[in-house]
Amino acid sequence: MKPRISVHKFSSCDGCQLAFINAGEALLELATLVDIVHFAEAGPVDPDAPVDIAFVEGSISTQDEALRIRRLRETTRYLISLGACATAGGLQALRNFNARGVEDWSHAVYARPEFIESLDTATAIARHVKVDLELWGCPVSTRQVFAAIRRLLYGALPFVDNEKVCQECKRRGITCTLVTRGIPCLGPVTRTGCGALCPAFGRDCYGCFGPGENPNAAAMARRFQGLGLLPEEINRRFHFINSHAPDFLEEGLAWREDRP
Ligand code: SF4
Ligand code: SF4
Repeated sequence: MKPRISVHKFSSCDGCQLAFINAGEALLELATLVDIVHFAEAGPVDPDAPVDIAFVEGSISTQDEALRIRRLRETTRYLISLGACATAGGLQALRNFNARGVEDWSHAVYARPEFIESLDTATAIARHVKVDLELWGCPVSTRQVFAAIRRLLYGALPFVDNEKVCQECKRRGITCTLVTRGIPCLGPVTRTGCGALCPAFGRDCYGCFGPGENPNAAAMARRFQGLGLLPEEINRRFHFINSHAPDFLEEGLAWREDRP
């Protein structure tokens, strides 16, 4: 019997599910090796079906999602969170800094806030259930997703790639944007996986893959200060896509004048 896999959406933009769809022929090949039993964006719909591997995109932002992720955990062998929303709460977790909660921001954003059902916070999947593997990035890398599936299908533990973007720059011979041009690049503290995409095009990394292993975020922030960034600008470098990844959260708060 073929392994069964599923892809589930929670609060997200659907961009990480495209990691599968963009795989093109590799997705067709995968479909011959496994049964894809639930993947609403691509066709099959059976969200409660028991599976061997469940991929989860999105943060937990509603009461319904908090219940749904617990049900999913009970019916899957391996649960893999997919992308910044699922691993750190994503951009929507910026609202967690609003101490006045959902009542406040829903009235500011929506014309009919009475239709909004939301928790006060958007949180990572691992805050709710056990997660077997986290794949970071906004969006995730197709290469990393398929490497993880391949290893699981062969019964091996997936490789966790958590070195820094800088190391990938060096291997690819990309000129450092921070050292040579004084651009405030987060590559020295950000997890690799994207192939140093932004520095390859001469721009700074903004940390979409979240913190790498042992990031020295405090030293990074002081370097940004030396480049002339104001405390608010340093805060925003860390409190962006992965604002609630612990290393970025703490360092961002340290540069916030109205620290909650
Ligand atoms: S991590 Fe980024 S690309 Fe993926 S679902 Fe969230 S917002 Fe979209
Ligand atoms: S260089 Fe940084 S911001 Fe750009 S894709 Fe890679 S991790 Fe994301």
